Amino acid sequence: MIPFLDLKKINDRYTDEISAAIRRVMDSGWYILGNEAKSFEKEYAVYIGTSHAVGCGNGLDALTLILKAYMQLGVMNIGDEIIVPANTYIASILSVSANGLVPVPVEPCADTLQIDAEKIEAAITPRTKGVMIVHLYGQCAYSDRIADICRRYNLKLIEDNAQAHGCLYGGRRTGSLGDAAAHSFYPGKNLGALGDGGAVTTDDSRLADMVRCLANYGSSEKYIFRYKGMNSRLDEMQAAVLRAKLPGLDRDNNIRRHIASLYLQGIDHPSITLPTVRDFDSHVFHIFPILCEDRDSLMRHLRDNGVATLIHYPIAPHRQAAYREWDRLSLPVTEHIHSCELSLPISPVLTDEETEKIIGIINNWVTSTPKKPPKNPRKSPKTTCKKD
Ligand SMILES: *Cc1c(COP(=O)(O)O)cnc(C)c1O
Repeated sequence: MIPFLDLKKINDRYTDEISAAIRRVMDSGWYILGNEAKSFEKEYAVYIGTSHAVGCGNGLDALTLILKAYMQLGVMNIGDEIIVPANTYIASILSVSANGLVPVPVEPCADTLQIDAEKIEAAITPRTKGVMIVHLYGQCAYSDRIADICRRYNLKLIEDNAQAHGCLYGGRRTGSLGDAAAHSFYPGKNLGALGDGGAVTTDDSRLADMVRCLANYGSSEKYIFRYKGMNSRLDEMQAAVLRAKLPGLDRDNNIRRHIASLYLQGIDHPSITLPTVRDFDSHVFHIFPILCEDRDSLMRHLRDNGVATLIHYPIAPHRQAAYREWDRLSLPVTEHIHSCELSLPISPVLTDEETEKIIGIINNWVTSTPKKPPKNPRKSPKTTCKKD
């Protein structure tokens, strides 16, 4: 069986570095807010290209802390609107709701699967205070067009970089393109810890200070609490592990790109749409998403032939019980993606042989008996994006 993601194998390549890192923390006797976290923050800020990185507990907290800090700084207030991609992992949206802000979902482009810049402007109201872009699947969602819209309407541009560590835009890293960015080091991400972890990156010193304070109970001075904060810190153990793995991130992303190139060249099936890649060399392929109307049958075919796949994501956020207030929203591009998306295995430890085997299995797939057209055929959305 080819697993979807072999985390043990991924981390085993760093055994010596990780063991030494854990030993260092053991020997230091210091487990929270110590030298490892401080050093990782410095190293990660250099890597991303921002003046600040602030460690925190996980990616959701990183997003939540950015918005909470903007509220504390008076930039945003309860009831203000934040534009979010309709097609994302729900954490992006939860961070907005958690702060009493109002998430406004905007459809993606049907080809790149990234938020549609053209639809962002149409969703802006006098209450809009920010735009959250998500570099979904490891591809850059940022464009000069989006930055320009944010400038013209005086909106904060927040990046959810949970899936795109190492991704580039014009030579700059995602996570350094907007006003602030959130990163997740969940074990399955391109840069993954051995547990939960996250970070906020920004060039804004006031924002960085506020995030750091809010993540530590609203305190910058022991037992003095200026704000109603939370407890969300990157612990020393995870910081040390991340320091051990960060130097290998670019190499690991290169392997992901190599596998993606094999898929892009090798998969040839009339029922399968390969991902639209805007800039191959900057994409970090956290996920390799293909689109297929007969997705469930293809998934079964791959499973029967020993290949595990996943769906990112089976149910759109506006169709989740958590957002039942959005039940009546019609977001056809998002719904179409969610009904067709299938993620193929991709990771720094997937071999060329395994990749070729997967390609062969896909190309040999015989589509099950052609489905009768539905009674009320819904037009499949054709919206694609102009290149900005
Ligand atoms: C993983 C992920 C998150 C959340 O990160 P956690 O560390 O699991 O809290 C947020 N946004 C996106 C797009 C993600 O993929």
